[in-house]
Amino acid sequence: MGLFDSLFRSSAVLGIAEETLEFALQASEDTHPNEYMGMLRGTEADTLGLDRDGMVITDVLVIPGTESNSVSATVKTNMIPNDRHALGSVHSHPNGVLQPSQEDLGTFTRGDVHVIIGAPYGRTDWQAFDTEGKPRELEVIDVDLPDAEEFFHFDQHDIDEELRGEGGRW
Ligand SMILES: [Zn+2]
Repeated sequence: MGLFDSLFRSSAVLGIAEETLEFALQASEDTHPNEYMGMLRGTEADTLGLDRDGMVITDVLVIPGTESNSVSATVKTNMIPNDRHALGSVHSHPNGVLQPSQEDLGTFTRGDVHVIIGAPYGRTDWQAFDTEGKPRELEVIDVDLPDAEEFFHFDQHDIDEELRGEGGRW
């Protein structure tokens, strides 16, 4: 296998973390009847403890400067971060139609995966599309997201720091 094969292989999108999908569904419902829009970011599957090559969608980034109304959400393209963890986009259709609009197709060129979530925002009220606007599979993966773990992670070093801080005040 050549270098290019391994590069492409490692950047393939395997799926979306269940927690991230639920977050996007909830955010879309909360934004109704306006359109919700965000960018999808991923994490390498092996750092999530999966024995697979590729990326898992783990974050939805709301873009500053997004103008949202019931007709369309327009992203100011210069606000889209250009990094290798950016995998695509997610937005909602308050009318419930799980098909990309003509305008959507023009924005699907950035990133590999584009998710449309439709009212009533239930567990299956969404569809993933590729850059050409064709429906594609997107596996929902049950993984623990690393940020949530780090937040609650304390080790002996932190405790020592804390004790030293206490001692200093005496
Ligand atoms: Zn749309």
